[in-house]
Amino acid sequence: MTQFTLTNPTLRPELNPLIEVNRLVKGYKLPGGKSLNVLENIDFTLYEGEIVALLGKSGSGKSTMLRILAGLIPPTQGHLRYRSQTVNGSLSGVAMVFQSFALMPWLTVQQNVELGLEAQGVPRKERARRAVEAIDLIGMDGFEGAYPKELSGGMRQRVGLARALVVQPDTLFMDEPFSALDVLTAENLRNEIIELWMKGQFPAKAILIVTHNIEEAVYLADRIVVLGSNPGRLRAVIKNDLPHWRDRKSAEFTGLVDQIYQIMTHPEVDVDDLLVAYRERQNRESGKPALEAEAGNGLEEPEQIAQALLGSDSEVAQYFRLPQAKVDGMSGLLEYLDENAPEGRDDIYRLADELHFEADDLLPITDALDLLDLAEIKNGDITLTETGRIFAKSDLEPRKEIFRQQLLGRIPLAENIYRALSVKENHRLEAVFFREVLQRRFTAQEAERQLETLIYWGRYAELFEYDADDEILFLPVQESPAN
Ligand code: ADP
Ligand code: MG
Repeated sequence: MTQFTLTNPTLRPELNPLIEVNRLVKGYKLPGGKSLNVLENIDFTLYEGEIVALLGKSGSGKSTMLRILAGLIPPTQGHLRYRSQTVNGSLSGVAMVFQSFALMPWLTVQQNVELGLEAQGVPRKERARRAVEAIDLIGMDGFEGAYPKELSGGMRQRVGLARALVVQPDTLFMDEPFSALDVLTAENLRNEIIELWMKGQFPAKAILIVTHNIEEAVYLADRIVVLGSNPGRLRAVIKNDLPHWRDRKSAEFTGLVDQIYQIMTHPEVDVDDLLVAYRERQNRESGKPALEAEAGNGLEEPEQIAQALLGSDSEVAQYFRLPQAKVDGMSGLLEYLDENAPEGRDDIYRLADELHFEADDLLPITDALDLLDLAEIKNGDITLTETGRIFAKSDLEPRKEIFRQQLLGRIPLAENIYRALSVKENHRLEAVFFREVLQRRFTAQEAERQLETLIYWGRYAELFEYDADDEILFLPVQESPAN
């Protein structure tokens, strides 16, 4: 069993399991009918007396895992247990706070807080008493009769918290509760929660908080669970015994943050190995690259193009999920590294600090640079590659040329779209076609994001153009020799 020190001194030190899942798998049906696992083989137990942070990049399945642990959506495989009993359906001992407050605009603060109790059939007088208590607890006394529109974001989130706590849940779940708030308000709320927790006045026995903010996780949690992507698996469980109040500037604190950055930036698979496998497969299957323009090869047929676009190697497709990074951000970071970092190398954690970036802003950019071989990520450091350095020192035109070469050489899907357009006689294909192809591999929302990024990158590289009105991808017109 995991041993760790509880930061809430009033709770007994035995570890009573509250919520458990074993071998949890969650799959979603894709529009085409296939299924895609977003969570795979997750073993997790939440114990009484602990604050756990669930950390991961955007899309890694954090919210999905939280909803499964709350019993709000069923797992595809695996069982949910609450105090050692198997449960189906929602857990009555869990209350939830969301990023978006989710208050009823036509109800007052007090009425909003009473909602949860009403659902439980608590009599009116008692409802009112408990609501006022919860409102006091989170420092909102005096605002009982106010409407949500009269409140600041921080106060609305306090109401969200009071509404969750008024039912005196065993466990409080929070899904990125502070990400919509400004920095100071968020810090203030975190401190108020820790204060109640330390004093033993917090109404719940455990807190599970989803976040993409590494420092927030280290500030609050006793254990930090890092979720990977493609599909979401537990990458690490890190215990954090630093006593509250934690000093964000201390060597222990920054050391832990740095360690988590290293875990989160450590590639889950080696893209270079995948590319080698991909090229080998192409050569084996056809002796030449897929979609080679050639008369009479039948590639005018959409279905054949779709097959060629996707290939048959699911691993390759799965791990070539493009991070949502804009070229401006990538170029900016390459320039920054070239100019400021000795030998073009910097610690990603320090970089985030210097640039005032959160992990969620920075990691898609570093991932994209790694994928395109413009930088290399290792042990939490990012280093410019030779190509990356040349890119940083070049003007716009050569940059586009480099980007184009990297896209063609490193992103099979970009390469195949380019070939598909080359093969078509009119060099045009409707975006809806690519959307449908992507939806065989990704959920509808993710397919849209992938297409958006592909189009954005492809346009920048002048690999293909895009008519947003008619939603058509087409090859740029070759400049004809001057006549
Ligand atoms: P996170 O909270 O870490 O950003 P989510 O749990 O929201 O991640 O989503 C994980 C993945 O599951 C994403 O690719 C998302 O598109 C997909 N997903 C989430 N909910 C659904 C759903 N209801 N149907 C299909 N796919 C979904
Ligand atoms: Mg989420």
